[in-house]
Amino acid sequence: MKKSIMDILVCPKCKNDLILNVRKEDKEEIIEGELKCNNCSEIYPINDGIPNLLTSDLQG
Ligand SMILES: [Zn+2]
Repeated sequence: MKKSIMDILVCPKCKNDLILNVRKEDKEEIIEGELKCNNCSEIYPINDGIPNLLTSDLQG
């Protein structure tokens, strides 16, 4: 995912801002990492450059 889309990404659960933790990145793209919600502490993984914004409720 592009770093620039952080501007438009919000937590699907509570619509708050997400904090980006990068584990592996390219020049402009996040390859591996996670997005954590500032508010509800839900964590969304980023795998192979694709952010998984499903909540754990839906995944379960
Ligand atoms: Zn949230």
